[in-house]
Amino acid sequence: MGHEVLILRNCFVPEEGCLVHSHVTIRDGFIVSIEKSGQSYDGFEHTSQKIREERSEMENSVMTIIECAGRILSHGFIDIQMNGAFGVDFSSNSITAEDILTVATTLPRFGVTHFCPTLVSCSKDRYEKLIPLIGNMCNQDRSKDDVRGRANLIGMHLEGPFFCASKRGAHEKCNIHESLENDCIEKVYHSSAETINEAGVSIVTLAPELSGALPQIETLSQNGVIVSMGHTDCIMSDGMKAVDNGASLITHLYNAMRPFHHREPGLLGLLQNSTSTYYSIIADGLHSHPQSVKMAYALSKNVVLVTDCMAAMGLGDGCFKLGEESVLVEGGKAVLEGTNTLAGSVASMESCVQSFHEFTECSVCAVLDAAVKNPAHVLKLSHKIGSIEIGRRADLVLLDCNLKVVKTIIFGSVVFSQ
Ligand SMILES: [Zn+2]
Repeated sequence: MGHEVLILRNCFVPEEGCLVHSHVTIRDGFIVSIEKSGQSYDGFEHTSQKIREERSEMENSVMTIIECAGRILSHGFIDIQMNGAFGVDFSSNSITAEDILTVATTLPRFGVTHFCPTLVSCSKDRYEKLIPLIGNMCNQDRSKDDVRGRANLIGMHLEGPFFCASKRGAHEKCNIHESLENDCIEKVYHSSAETINEAGVSIVTLAPELSGALPQIETLSQNGVIVSMGHTDCIMSDGMKAVDNGASLITHLYNAMRPFHHREPGLLGLLQNSTSTYYSIIADGLHSHPQSVKMAYALSKNVVLVTDCMAAMGLGDGCFKLGEESVLVEGGKAVLEGTNTLAGSVASMESCVQSFHEFTECSVCAVLDAAVKNPAHVLKLSHKIGSIEIGRRADLVLLDCNLKVVKTIIFGSVVFSQ
């Protein structure tokens, strides 16, 4: 049988903090060679060698050569928190497998090759329906190596419902549980802390100060779930205890948590205190002031960019749903109808990457760490995804010098081209 060969010529690949000039060869979906030259990145596109594709058939193989003109080639973006997009709300009672595949097929437009479909706090009945539906799709993707034509589902993120009610943000009050005592995880999710990872769940965001939280954090993290602290009024010592019990992430730093106080730093205090703790941040310029994003990054480089986007992402202004709540989107800002409460974002990973780069003035490699390497690390998937290496699957994004997505490649095939 013939081979499908794709050669990406003249691109810069991140490697240990540097952009290394390379020619990358992909065969049948996998990276088979990375040829490096000594040329250094100058931040300019080589207009004399405009991006172009050549295709030829030889010896039963189909070979495509893409001349990348000195652009940046990264592993695709990994979004570990998104509530929906393109009119689809993952927490909707009427969601179907086709809706989820629509999102997965459209996301590569923004450079995303892997994502965690995220549920806001739901009723027990809704979890009973949605966790098996979406979780099974995640498990199917997790078990195979050849997802084609669309972004990979790498496990669900259950954001809630075990929250501090006063920090619930846009989550519906009637769905919030302020205790993690006894077997409430099983009662609410219809899967226990021991088995929920097998049901397709990768991340659970919960408030660590709730009664009964620490043993549940320990059980969840010992059974493959990433426990993230969020929608919480906890003080720093509660956060430290949660970390000691296995929590490894803070959900959308600054939003829906006790703010920093010099006598009680809250979760912000963990950024310097715990090298194993990562934090996600929504760098859309609305959820946090750009200077706050820059300050967090000065404290800790363990940052994970998330969009926290909802159904309106990719569509524009209008009225949408987030679970049962009505959300109004105006001028790129999503709020609960009739309030000023932010209800997720309409930001894409592409725009978060560009904004974070601008807000923090970090290097290109550093922002790619935040969008690719760190989320893979947090999910304990660094052995499979998050970097460009020989033998790995070719899930890639080609970016111009302004970090705009030019092409997205999934399993060695170009699925988006600008
Ligand atoms: Zn949230």
